[in-house]
Amino acid sequence: MSFTADRLLLFGATGDLAQRMLLPSLCALHADGLVDEDLEIVGTARQPFDDAGYRNFAREALEKFMPADRRGGMATFLNRLRYQPLDATDMAGYAALADKVGTPKQGLAIFLSTAPSLFEPTIVGLAAGGLAGEKVRIGLEKPLGTSLESSREVNDAVARAFPEDRTFRIDHYLGKETVQNLLALRFANILFEPLWNAAHIDHVQITVAETVGLEGRVGFYDGAGALRDMVQNHMLQLLALVAMEPPSSYDATAIRDEKVKVLRTLRLVAPDETVTGQYRAGAILGQPVPGYDEELGKPSDTETFVAIKAHLDNWRWKGVPFYLRTGKRLPERKTEIVVQFRPVPHSIFAGRGALTVPNRLVIGIQPEENITLSLMAKVPGLDREGVRLRQVPLDIAMADAFAGPTKRIAYERLLLDLIEGDQTLFVRRDEVEAQWDWIDGIRASWAVHGLTPKPYTAGSWGPSAAIALTERDGVHWHE
Ligand code: NAP
Repeated sequence: MSFTADRLLLFGATGDLAQRMLLPSLCALHADGLVDEDLEIVGTARQPFDDAGYRNFAREALEKFMPADRRGGMATFLNRLRYQPLDATDMAGYAALADKVGTPKQGLAIFLSTAPSLFEPTIVGLAAGGLAGEKVRIGLEKPLGTSLESSREVNDAVARAFPEDRTFRIDHYLGKETVQNLLALRFANILFEPLWNAAHIDHVQITVAETVGLEGRVGFYDGAGALRDMVQNHMLQLLALVAMEPPSSYDATAIRDEKVKVLRTLRLVAPDETVTGQYRAGAILGQPVPGYDEELGKPSDTETFVAIKAHLDNWRWKGVPFYLRTGKRLPERKTEIVVQFRPVPHSIFAGRGALTVPNRLVIGIQPEENITLSLMAKVPGLDREGVRLRQVPLDIAMADAFAGPTKRIAYERLLLDLIEGDQTLFVRRDEVEAQWDWIDGIRASWAVHGLTPKPYTAGSWGPSAAIALTERDGVHWHE
């Protein structure tokens, strides 16, 4: 049902995500007049704040995490905030929460920024407290389960109170401007789509590299690992956007129908097509850092790096590998997609001693958002010693091309869409389950073949086997 929510109920309102992303995003939306004047925000968590105490807490978070030049509307934003302490597992507390939320005029949007283990009791409490009716929608942070089976359990629990059209599963990568731009690049230009297939594309690489290590996420990360933390959600969403067929329109159903179709074509990965690793002591940007086992204080089998050669079994992508890699303590922080085109079928320049290098499209998502197409061009000159060709980049540096519009963080877009009820950039249940299905297959194969993570030095690009994974196909990782 379409409505713009005039109440927002934020679970996990004292957490890291709320402080770093959600409160700053809401404040920015408020400052730019993008949310309704009537929107009230109720925060909840166990900490025993009253309204004034929570406003102080929120002010400190905004001062810490929001750039000073974007804090203009902070004072009036804080007036929108109220707070109700609640242990989400304590059913008796939901009546008071419902009283605090009151009766919205238009509708209520709820955002669960809590551990997924709290989702089920929270949903039960919301339903019992009358906070799950037709004019209520719910946003869920990742991770949604740790396997297909557990994600079905979470999804079933949510579905008992919220139908799919009122359930908004967040993958914050979809809120990123360049990720959405991938759709514009593919489907608002005539140039790429005719070439976007196995006849013209040699392979695709998707890299999500982090320089950080465990960063205090010990409880969550150990046992989860890179495959479930990064590949299952963000990287498979990027893959789906690169590989999907053209949707008939830019709307939630059309786009998500195409994404799920492509996710279901992912072939079970062969044992020699994955490499896992775990970092050991090394150096990042010249600074010594400890190994994963040292940070953890015990040995572990959790992978902090994974590389996969993935295949899509459909006509468009027959024989085109999608190389995925992600890891912690890699030499630089970057998220990028590389589309490597095939060579020209015949080089007319070969007889003149000039080499042609196949075109490549690089879509940078983090830290900089930019798109670069490398093309061959002739080096100016009289060519007395043969024609000279050189690769030149055709850059669409987003910051330069669109200097005017404010650069927004992903959660601004996603929170606004949640408030207004647009599901296009949220992940549908069937997508999450198709993603888990494939991931479970990889994990089962690791278990059967007794694959354990290979050590790699912090500050390197992972175990050498990850290099060999592409090199044996004559492909180099883009660095
Ligand atoms: P966090 O810092 O541990 O915060 C958890 C929040 O939940 C706190 O507000 C905590 O407040 C509240 N909470 C814990 N137990 C509770 C209970 N029994 N009843 C009610 N509230 C309870 O976690 P986070 O980093 O903000 O992450 C929140 C969610 O977002 C997680 O699912 C995480 O995986 C996901 N996520 C986080 C990030 C990130 O960058 N942080 C990125 C992507 C996804 P009290 O202790 O006061 O109750």
